[in-house]
Amino acid sequence: MAAHRPRRAPGALGERFTVLDPATGEAFAEAPDQRPDTLDAVVGRAHEAWRGWRADPVARATALRAAADAVEAAGADLAPLLSREQGKPLAESYAETARTAARLRYFAGLAEHAETAGHTGIGPGTRLPPDGRPVRSELRWRPLGPVAAIVPWNFPLQLASAKFAPALAAGNTVVLKPSPFTPLATRLLGTVLSTALPEGVLTIVTGHEPLGARLASHPGIRHVTFTGSVPTGRAVARGAAASLARVTLELGGNDAAILLEDVDVERIADRLFWAAFRNCGQVCMAVKRVYAPARLYADVVEALAQRAKTVVVGAGLDPGTELGPVNNAPQLARVEHCTARALADGARAAAGGHRLDRPGYFHAPTILADVPPGSPVVTREQFGPVLPVLPYGSLDEAVAAANGTGFGLGGSVWGSDLDRAGAVADRLECGTAWINHHAELSLAQPFAGAKESGVGVAGGPWGFYGNLRPFVVHRPEES
Ligand code: NAD
Repeated sequence: MAAHRPRRAPGALGERFTVLDPATGEAFAEAPDQRPDTLDAVVGRAHEAWRGWRADPVARATALRAAADAVEAAGADLAPLLSREQGKPLAESYAETARTAARLRYFAGLAEHAETAGHTGIGPGTRLPPDGRPVRSELRWRPLGPVAAIVPWNFPLQLASAKFAPALAAGNTVVLKPSPFTPLATRLLGTVLSTALPEGVLTIVTGHEPLGARLASHPGIRHVTFTGSVPTGRAVARGAAASLARVTLELGGNDAAILLEDVDVERIADRLFWAAFRNCGQVCMAVKRVYAPARLYADVVEALAQRAKTVVVGAGLDPGTELGPVNNAPQLARVEHCTARALADGARAAAGGHRLDRPGYFHAPTILADVPPGSPVVTREQFGPVLPVLPYGSLDEAVAAANGTGFGLGGSVWGSDLDRAGAVADRLECGTAWINHHAELSLAQPFAGAKESGVGVAGGPWGFYGNLRPFVVHRPEES
């Protein structure tokens, strides 16, 4: 997406940049605009801290649990700041803070489990199955070194913790770069975590490009874990190729929801609506296209439009707000452009269809009907509070349309016969498919996009071992 460079101002700590409140469009705080040449020192300290941090998995687990306690205790400070800079309703910010703590605890448990199972540490490791030679092979897992974590602005804390919790639990140190649109809650999180983690183990850097590009290509980084758009993901992979650091990319999505003939429209309408509009549609795995059988098409459009017209839109910090603003001006422009183009292509706005006439980056929750299937609001990731609903004739047609983009993050199937819905879900080319809901993830599951939606695996034990490298010792078999 287009680069955003808020005003820079010299401050006592060097260059700083302004952070805008998306509910007003006005600056309300500043953050350090760190120069890329400061990364040598930051990564150097991450290397130094790694020596101690990698040594003892049980001590790491204890520290990560203390970190989780500290995050929970700081919820009342973190959540309002997150809502102010990101725009989401306060209850969602509290939930994001709680998930950050839960993730730290989950990966602390995995660190202990891996140690007990002999996978990490300096013990005998896991004995590999014999292959007929008189050799005994033992597998151990070793941390990689300093990890670069680069995250976007839609879930600053949750996505950051999805990277640093497994990386730290596995014995790596982390340099974390949040989006310049949302640096503040992450910086506060860093302060909170520093009460539980040794110095240098987790460092947060903030600033504009080329800070992220230089971090991704820094020779001292051994794993780059990135969440963001497909084009930036490509740039990150190219940068990391310089040092051949491991790369994990969690990229964009354009998830389809297929409604089956036996779906109970009124029963699922609330769930389907929020699967598309939570966090103002700024969720990588939000429902971004709905395919409805022709017979139910009008009912589905009407049910979703009704909800879009009555949802309470407002500032994240206002009590009662259900849907906040879009996070930033370039993102709002992208949403407006996709919507205007669809309307010009012949679509009909069953609800919304325009930005709201008020300060800040508000866009009316929008349901689009009669959209030409080739319109960018269907084929691209518009990442906002807009949902096109498309009719289908045959199920094969719906599945082909759902699979017909370069994305493959998630997808869902909605109907009363769960086995039938499951059989359709099996045909979706994506990393996670749901039946009768969307975008719910377990901490214990692998999270990976198909096609251009990602490279590598995050989440659960897969995410943990994705931060380790196998190390095998062969020795003669004892007679
Ligand atoms: P973005 O790609 O513009 O930016 C993501 C991060 O990369 C930010 O921190 C940004 O400052 C940094 N960055 C920008 N240019 C860089 C470069 N050349 N090298 C290194 N870092 C660079 O994405 P965004 O607009 O902040 O976020 C929205 C995108 O994120 C959407 O495409 C969305 O689908 C995706 N996303 C994916 C997931 C997932 O898990 N798959 C989750 C959330 C968001």
